[in-house]
Amino acid sequence: MAKVKKIAVLRGDGIGSEVVTEALKVLEKCESLFDVKFEIEEGLFGGIAIDEAGSPLPSSTLELCKKADAVLLGAVGGPKWDNNPKELRPETGLLALRKELGLYSNIRPAVVFDCLMDASTIKPEVLKGTDMIVVRELTGGIYFGDKFRKDTAEGQVAVDTCAYSESEVERIVTQAFEIARKRNKKLASVDKANVLETSRLWREVVEKVATDYPDVELEHVLVDNCAMQLLRRPASFDVIVTENMFGDILSDEAAMLTGSIGMLSSASLGEGSFGLYEPVHGSAPDIAGEQLANPIATILSLALMFQLSFDEQEIASTIEKAVKKVLDDGNRTSDIAVSPESKLTTSQMGDAIVEAMGTV
Ligand code: NAD
Repeated sequence: MAKVKKIAVLRGDGIGSEVVTEALKVLEKCESLFDVKFEIEEGLFGGIAIDEAGSPLPSSTLELCKKADAVLLGAVGGPKWDNNPKELRPETGLLALRKELGLYSNIRPAVVFDCLMDASTIKPEVLKGTDMIVVRELTGGIYFGDKFRKDTAEGQVAVDTCAYSESEVERIVTQAFEIARKRNKKLASVDKANVLETSRLWREVVEKVATDYPDVELEHVLVDNCAMQLLRRPASFDVIVTENMFGDILSDEAAMLTGSIGMLSSASLGEGSFGLYEPVHGSAPDIAGEQLANPIATILSLALMFQLSFDEQEIASTIEKAVKKVLDDGNRTSDIAVSPESKLTTSQMGDAIVEAMGTV
């Protein structure tokens, strides 16, 4: 009996719709190759939802997502809505969706494909074998602490408060250990424990949780050192877990090891196995509707969905292997193309990956 998974699909704006179309082809192929079935329902979200339903996150879309096992999102935003009041901006819908779904961690893989190593600014011999995941705490820390200014004799003083509770740290660190256990069993916990009290608590909690994961090798890395080591020995990292602001910066640094934004997938997770999966890139209004978008980031986000929400490692690995094969065979969308003649459209790239899934 095939397992039925409910997936809420939000195409969003710009290239969102084009890249999601290709991901849906991949899901269809999964049904024919494996013992899985999907119940797919689409919802309005972002700028298009403002135009058609008067809100970037209509209540029907929120309900759809809450009832689903996972959400696949394209991208939202565009110049058309840039000057709207805050409540009528696509990004407001995105923040509200993450909050309503209780998503407290952001997962960003950084994988270097051998055949695309030249697209990176880092030397190939340093990059080779890089395949890591950055797990970032998303709802606590300095971005959400009290902020205020006060007048003093020295002029204005601005204060941003950074706070973390034991339970906030424990849930994200546990999630990171679980992810590491499913991968190469190495976890780097990044903090600034030589200076910050929140980091000292963070480290204590990591040590406590680690006793449940004796099979996972743990290292503590200070954030400034981690920024350097990502450039010096990127291939030595497996899973990195860190607090909100450090993760914001380090996940962008790790992402840039790999080259093109069209290749970067992401997941946001909450309690249980539910997750929201989306490419890191935005709606790319400059190329929207032209079949120029690279759908690989969205297709790799699906692989993450199988890995993290559905625990279907074989399907995840089939998608990843198919992407690798297609790239090894020289197929390229324009963002990663070496010569203009070899370029594939968005749809051709999706088709090539679907075809490769049957052969890897
Ligand atoms: P962007 O990621 O949309 O585009 C940046 C550059 O990368 C552009 O030149 C674009 O053509 C290119 N690019 C992006 N994705 C690509 C792909 N799959 N294939 C090939 N090239 C690709 O970032 P931006 O231009 O700063 O933002 C455009 C809109 O997207 C804005 O409204 C922004 O708010 C929104 N945005 C949304 C999200 C999201 O939905 N999560 C994330 C970032 C930006």
